[in-house]
Amino acid sequence: MVKLGAHMSIAGGYYKAIDAAAELEMDVVQLFTKNNNQWAAKTISDPEVALFSDRLRDTGVTNPLSHASYLINLASPKDELWNKSIDGMSVEWQRAEQLGLDGVVMHPGAFVESTPEQGMQRIVDAIVEISRRVEAKKSWLLLENTAGQGSCLGWSMEQLAWLLERTGESMRVGVCLDTCHAHAAGYDFSTESGFKAWEREAKKLGVLGAIRALHLNDSKKGCGSRVDRHEHIGLGTIGLEGFERVLKNTVLKQWPMYLETDKGLNDDEEEWDAVNMRVLRGLAS
Ligand SMILES: [Zn+2]
Ligand SMILES: [Zn+2]
Repeated sequence: MVKLGAHMSIAGGYYKAIDAAAELEMDVVQLFTKNNNQWAAKTISDPEVALFSDRLRDTGVTNPLSHASYLINLASPKDELWNKSIDGMSVEWQRAEQLGLDGVVMHPGAFVESTPEQGMQRIVDAIVEISRRVEAKKSWLLLENTAGQGSCLGWSMEQLAWLLERTGESMRVGVCLDTCHAHAAGYDFSTESGFKAWEREAKKLGVLGAIRALHLNDSKKGCGSRVDRHEHIGLGTIGLEGFERVLKNTVLKQWPMYLETDKGLNDDEEEWDAVNMRVLRGLAS
């Protein structure tokens, strides 16, 4: 059975994300372990860790995963931001490890005014340093494919493969596949041929085998738009058939999948997370 869930809020405590996921009958949950728009973070206390693991046990929610701060840019050409990002990402990974999470998802980085080649090398150098600092025994560092907006790297399977070849499993570095980002980056998940072409390429380059989690988001913008705008499942340019292919893919379906779609209520005053979960469950069965 496919394990499905969503990114949930930690307002009021880390365990609140688990409770909220359980309430909507989710199997898995993603959360921030700190304010995602700030560098500073209060240390996680032992009672908080205990409460978190108790709640996982009590609710049956599994595969907790975190998403790193949006401020981090491991491809930055500016030494100050680059060093701060290495510090910040090390903390994120340590916090994931402390809470016993499967891993922490991060966007590889943006090269801004440098070059893609320079940015890619910066990311590798940063990850090597981070993995030297963090002794992760459980948590993985997951590189998320991007939509390729602006100077964001990691949108193509070639780029992800290049990064994995220089980091990879020995450093506990894997991949989190975001469906919206892949589609926006130019891999047409709305058609059988487009998806198969992506799968062949990802397999050949060793990216498919490095995937350990998925973000399930439909896309507001078209295939190849390079614009990252999430849409509810089935209402975007990927569509229901696109998600059915992902949910039934023999390699992908073994990994936990998390929604990152807008919260709130639909016109029938039903929570969007509940709607999207129901749609996904229907497609998966
Ligand atoms: Zn994502
Ligand atoms: Zn996105």
